[in-house]
Amino acid sequence: MEIRWDPILAQWIIVAGKRGKRPLLPEGYCPFCPGSEEVPEKGWTVLSLPNKFPALRPDAPPPDIKYDRLYRCKPAKGVCEVIVYTPQHNASLADLSVENIKAVIDLWTSRFEELGSLDYVKYVFIFENKGRIIGVTLDHPHGQLYAFPFIPTLIRRELASSKQYWRRTGTCLFCTIIQKEQKDEVRVVCENEDFICFLPFFAHWPYGVHIYPKRHREALTDLTETEKVSFAAILKKVLLKFDNLFNMSFPYMMVLHQRPTDGKPYPYYHFHVEFYPPYREKNKIKYFASVETGSGTVTFDYTPEMKAKELRETPPV
Ligand code: ZN
Ligand code: ZN
Ligand code: FE
Repeated sequence: MEIRWDPILAQWIIVAGKRGKRPLLPEGYCPFCPGSEEVPEKGWTVLSLPNKFPALRPDAPPPDIKYDRLYRCKPAKGVCEVIVYTPQHNASLADLSVENIKAVIDLWTSRFEELGSLDYVKYVFIFENKGRIIGVTLDHPHGQLYAFPFIPTLIRRELASSKQYWRRTGTCLFCTIIQKEQKDEVRVVCENEDFICFLPFFAHWPYGVHIYPKRHREALTDLTETEKVSFAAILKKVLLKFDNLFNMSFPYMMVLHQRPTDGKPYPYYHFHVEFYPPYREKNKIKYFASVETGSGTVTFDYTPEMKAKELRETPPV
């Protein structure tokens, strides 16, 4: 395993040759249920566990492939963890109490802090893939994190544009977007005291909502206790809206975008959550096909205002 540099697109690729051979788990066996393997029987609400088949590892071996200045290569040094959201097997993040979701947020925060403080970790990426359609094979509610030895390419782009905006205007690009969405109203899905959820003017996915703290926060570690409760509450609300939209357990990819952990200052970056749900209508999948994948251009088949209205009008109960 190693990371290889793509000199054309200027980004790192993780090559984990052995991960392809992950064994299928026996039918009916869940490695995240209380009492199995390293999961305690009692006394926990949320847990972080090492990923059994990590793409990155703290003790990554030196690359065993020839490389040079054009074909660059580095050890795949990092950490991959699983975040178990609850001892309950048959649930999803949406079903959990606000207190339980707050415990997930607290765990995200402490893992971000601890892993981010490692010298080789430049970025802590927290995410959840949910649903068979996304390729998830384990039903037990869980998310994951990758502690990267580099700043991932999409984060680099967000940092570059927000830094430029900050230099030009002296304000946060994201704070400005939040104000604009609040003023325009038509793309707002829901909000509370401290957080807002909207489908941005420039949404990429039909139900690709973003959630932002209303106050300028670079990372989870900047949130107050009250803000964390508000964050848990809005997450639950959005997830329930998702589930109620088509009366199904709604699949999605969810990612947390925070500042890097390379020790440099990022006053112009604003923490947020992004969702990429694969559905565009009931029983209709949005494929990221040739145009999206091969040219990086998104075709949005509706309008963000239409899709935001649908979600706004879906009850969160
Ligand atoms: Zn389970
Ligand atoms: Zn901001
Ligand atoms: Fe983002």
